[in-house]
Order: sequence, then structure tokens, then C-alpha cells
Amino acid sequence: MQTQCITIETHAKYIFNCLAPDEREQAEYHFAQCDECLEKLIINRELLEEIDLAQFDPAPSNLIQPALGKIFDYLKTFREWLTDLAQPPWLGSVATVRSGKDSAKTVSPGAVLVKKEMQDLQVEIYIEKLKESRVALWIHVSCNKRPAPNVYLSLKQASGATVARLLNHDYECFDNIPYGRYSLKLEQKEAAKGIYAFKIDDRGLHER
Ligand SMILES: [Zn+2]
Repeated sequence: MQTQCITIETHAKYIFNCLAPDEREQAEYHFAQCDECLEKLIINRELLEEIDLAQFDPAPSNLIQPALGKIFDYLKTFREWLTDLAQPPWLGSVATVRSGKDSAKTVSPGAVLVKKEMQDLQVEIYIEKLKESRVALWIHVSCNKRPAPNVYLSLKQASGATVARLLNHDYECFDNIPYGRYSLKLEQKEAAKGIYAFKIDDRGLHER
């Protein structure tokens, strides 16, 4: 039986261990059957770990809006790791290569698609979760919906290693790279187009 969704108050009480045993049991029963509430619980916990609430004064509303936006983006990213993601069309041939003919249409359940604008270029980064804290990054760059010519990609790891590639197909792949902090720099005909800095960990991709 589907029970009622958990209120914010109950979430807080649950996290701070202030529920009566039967209320706690009810909440756990609900978390087990409602992905949305479970997701909120995990996020609330994360936020509480990262934020020291005591050091905040009430914020003016012009500051709250962007902060809420960030939380929603984070929520979206987190969600996307968990759900089956529609594979971007430009990746069609890749999946065939990776997973063999029979399962050409299956997409890994741990995947994130990020879209960025860098000047006149549209950048799509599809991240597939692999085993042992590693991912594959597939990068597609287009200009007015057509593959962008002469794009040079360099992926720099926080530890210092840089892999640079000339994008001469629809996409370029950086395969089997470890979780960590990265920055991706785009150049076209020797003109810098932009840098995208991000972190990949078990929870997905986070913009830095
Ligand atoms: Zn619920």
C-alpha cells in the first residue's frame, strides 16, 4: 500500500532522530516505496552535512532565487544518475559498438547528459557510469545543429594530466576516466571558446 508522502517536518525529525519508534517505522516504510521522498531525504542529509545552518542570517530574496536554482540543478543531476536517460541521437552508433548488436538500444542506468553553450557552440556531454568509480565521457559539439568543424578539446584532470583531442567526428570519447575534478577547454581554429569545470563522483556530475 502506498502511504502518504513525508512532510518537511518529518524529514527533519527523521534526520535528527526525533521521531517516535512507530513514526520512524512508518517513514521508513514510505521511503522504501517512494523514490521521490527517498531522494529528498538523501539530498537533505547531504545539505545538512555541507552547510552549517548556524552561520547563516536570513537571506534577502534576491539571493535565495539563485540558490534555489542551484539546488534544483543539483537535484536534477542527482536524479539523472538514477533514471534511464534517453540517449542523445548523436550517440546512436556508439552504443552499438559498446554493447553489441543485441542490446544496441539499451542505455546504462547510470548516465548524465549535460548541455552547455560556449559562445556559438553547443556542447553536449554524455557521461556513462562504469565500474570501479570510473566513467566514460562522450562529447559532442555542434554549431547551429550541425557538427562543428576544427574543434580542439582538452580535458584536464585536477591532478595535472591533460588529454587533448581534435574533434573530427560527431563526438569524441574520453573512456574509462576516474572520478575527480576536471576542466574541459574548447578551442576552435585556435580561438578559445570556453572552459567547463566539473566534478564527477558517485552522485553524478557537479558544475564547479
Ligand atoms: Zn513520498
